[in-house]
Amino acid sequence: MSDNVIIDLENKMILLKSEITQEYPWFYDFLEKNITNDITLSTLKRLNNKQKNFIHNMRDTIIEKAKQEWTQGVKGVYDMGKEDRKPCSICHRPTRYVCYISNIRNGNELNVGKDCLKKFGIKTTKSFDLLIKEAKKVKRLETLNNEIPGIKKIIYNWDKQLNYSILIPERLSKPYKLTGKEIKQLFDGYINTECEEEVFSKIKTLLDVRKIRIKKMKKYVDDNKNKKYIPTKRIIDWLKRKQQISIIKQLEKDEVITCNTAQKITEPSFMEIVGNDLKIELKSIGIKITNVNLEKRGYSFNLFKENNIKLFCKHNTLISYCGYLIFDTSIKEHPKLPSLENIIKISTVSDEDSIYPLLSKLKPLFNNLNLNIYGYNLERNNLTIQEKNSRKYIELNLNKSINQLKNLALSITDDTEFLIKKINSSNNKKYSKNDINHFNEVGELIKL
Ligand SMILES: [Zn+2]
Repeated sequence: MSDNVIIDLENKMILLKSEITQEYPWFYDFLEKNITNDITLSTLKRLNNKQKNFIHNMRDTIIEKAKQEWTQGVKGVYDMGKEDRKPCSICHRPTRYVCYISNIRNGNELNVGKDCLKKFGIKTTKSFDLLIKEAKKVKRLETLNNEIPGIKKIIYNWDKQLNYSILIPERLSKPYKLTGKEIKQLFDGYINTECEEEVFSKIKTLLDVRKIRIKKMKKYVDDNKNKKYIPTKRIIDWLKRKQQISIIKQLEKDEVITCNTAQKITEPSFMEIVGNDLKIELKSIGIKITNVNLEKRGYSFNLFKENNIKLFCKHNTLISYCGYLIFDTSIKEHPKLPSLENIIKISTVSDEDSIYPLLSKLKPLFNNLNLNIYGYNLERNNLTIQEKNSRKYIELNLNKSINQLKNLALSITDDTEFLIKKINSSNNKKYSKNDINHFNEVGELIKL
């Protein structure tokens, strides 16, 4: 740059694109007429004194103001790639990393290189080096995407592919996920400039592997979706909501619901199927499942021989006792039937209507023990027993007693010792008839 340069090319370009210069029309025209040269002392010769004075003494201020009009544009920095170059709007030098800057007063946009960006002190939100790094990544993604369209989407949605109507077993999902990890590593390596285009062919090979793996999974779904006790998406979603991840992992290994995992699944659609199947199996031992109780998570049933008595068994209890009848059936060919007695033992008296017939059946047994079932009161949850000899009354907790008494009533046991102990327990006060009458002013005493 020669000594008598007053305004160099770069500053002149900035002035021409900035709004402040428009406020001095003669100055703008003068710069435009001399667009190809630096402004030197000799160029000023044709100007009048006032204009010369302006250029000599005001130019630095005007240039400074002009620079302040520029800021990093929304487009940021763009990497032109290995071969393409774009000329800088200010110095016209070809640039690979193009920074878009915009004028906050008139909206003009320029593309500049790193040197001009520095020279004009234009503020960027991040350091220019960081912007270049980001631009390089974008360019690389563009290059890779040209070669393999949609690659980023495929990689970022990799595991969504596993979302089938039934659970994909681990033996198929694990290799698929592994391929996903491998391809993601190659993808990241290329985008982060750790490796070059040679990974493209590797990525393509892995995408072919992906296709094969997906095909296998689809075939598995087609072959198994109608099988009984296959873990459905509905069951898996239910387990996820209950955060039963270890059960899902087990199912991924087992492929089908087993007696072991079934105990922990009380998803409604599953319980309905189990209820139906157990109904068929348990018929032969005299149990009639009447209702799947989703709220209490269990099954209500009647006994063929005592149709007016309704019992209830929790899902996990019933499955752990006789789930082998319907699960893992390929292991045992002719499973032994469970005993009716044991099922009654693990069950509870489920409704109030069953209490009366149960207690009625106990009447003769109590007579032999010199006891009389006097009555019960649901509101008070009380069972009143009369001691015949002393003519005194004992009160027992109805809910607790009835489940033990049902075993006696249904001839599951003839062991009355617990009953005698209970009645003679020191905790049990003995009351007069008046006391009992007084107690039962609350609720209703149902006499037997
Ligand atoms: Zn430049």
